[in-house]
Amino acid sequence: MSLADLGPYRLPAEDAAYEAALRDALVKELLDRGIGAVVALVPVLFILKEILDSAWRDAPWLKETFFAVSLVLAARLIFHFWVRASPGRATAHQLGWTFFGLAGLLAAGFALMNWVAWPYLNPGQIGLLVILHAGINAVALTTMAPSVWAYCIYMGVDVLSLLVLAWLKGGIPDHNHLLMLLLALFLTALPVLSIQNHRALADRILSGLKLQDLALQDTLTGLRNRRFLVEFMGPESERILRSWGPGASVPQNLTILMLDLDHFKQVNDTLGHAAGDAVLKQLAALLTDAVRKHDLAIRWGGEEFVLIARGADRGYALVLADRIRTKVESHPFMLPDGKEIRKTCSIGYSLFPFDPSTPELLAWDQVLGLADTALYRAKASGRNRAIGVYPGEKPWSGEGAALLTAAESDLQGSAQSGLVRIMGELP
Ligand code: GH3
Ligand code: MG
Ligand code: MG
Repeated sequence: MSLADLGPYRLPAEDAAYEAALRDALVKELLDRGIGAVVALVPVLFILKEILDSAWRDAPWLKETFFAVSLVLAARLIFHFWVRASPGRATAHQLGWTFFGLAGLLAAGFALMNWVAWPYLNPGQIGLLVILHAGINAVALTTMAPSVWAYCIYMGVDVLSLLVLAWLKGGIPDHNHLLMLLLALFLTALPVLSIQNHRALADRILSGLKLQDLALQDTLTGLRNRRFLVEFMGPESERILRSWGPGASVPQNLTILMLDLDHFKQVNDTLGHAAGDAVLKQLAALLTDAVRKHDLAIRWGGEEFVLIARGADRGYALVLADRIRTKVESHPFMLPDGKEIRKTCSIGYSLFPFDPSTPELLAWDQVLGLADTALYRAKASGRNRAIGVYPGEKPWSGEGAALLTAAESDLQGSAQSGLVRIMGELP
């Protein structure tokens, strides 16, 4: 997941595991950027080196050590991105490749340096440095990065390597060595400091997302609310319409269902508001369960719910509507006092796009209006039934709004004149 994937719909407000994963993804993303910035510092360090070089002409090895530090940073960076770019691989696999890759790069770099300008290390000493460095870095990179601990370990191994270098050179660190140590500390401390900043930044981004998310959620049931549906359906209906456009391969449909509990007021009136609330919560769970993961269950208001089934073919609407109606009918709703009640519901549904021959005829909210009309019809026909509105045989030539008005004011008449077709009418 990257920052670009974070829409306003990605954070179910009370899902702690999801939130933790999101925070992690954010920190990783921000860190990658941070590490890029640190790498961009390398040329600056080289300029600094030139200045230092002329200031301490008696310390020619400074140049090589700078080279060594940059080499280590670059090698580590390459593997940082490789590990990050191949998620899901076995850690042992990553560990092996990271170790041998780092070791190869470092050995080649050190050997080159030794040959060009650093004739005081023998192959055994180079080997010691390479194994020390590649081993510790590979473990930190594959199992801990990015985290403060990984950076502490980088810092530790850099300091340790420099001490080993100083020791191999045969001297207690003099002031130049100490200067290099400080530089190495500075280089590795930068990401440590920035990771803390990233945590804080990730938290701020998350709390913003969370607030935004809460506004799109219904507090009683935890379902998405009407506002969410409106925000979601703008881009979604455009996407669906594009799938019907020229050049698109598979046309897609949405089934839009509106559901209302039958005689729900009775529950409140006879058993109390808490009982009503309990029924609504269980109904929400039942609906979430009844639809697929990418479908939407929305609390439209009161005891009315909207379901959007995505990616199903047009023939499925009828099956889905009846399946949900039966599920509600046969569900034992548990009340706070331990009693059990049964409730039924009425459903109206339709399809978006409404008419495949003119996909743009009705907007999604107009289709929802048709589903509402069908729901009203289901109530009037005795409740506990699902009624669907489909396009009739008569080709529709006028405006969508006129079709909607005609159907809303007289659904039966519109069906008789062939303007619409009704499924699941009276028994
Ligand atoms: P029918 O739909 O079958 O025509 O009858 P009904 O009794 O369900 O009709 P109506 O839509 O008028 O009733 C809706 C009731 O839902 C009114 C209100 O008291 C109740 N209600 C709405 N929101 C909530 C809520 O959050 N909690 C509880 N307990 N009740 C709610
Ligand atoms: Mg009702
Ligand atoms: Mg109602």
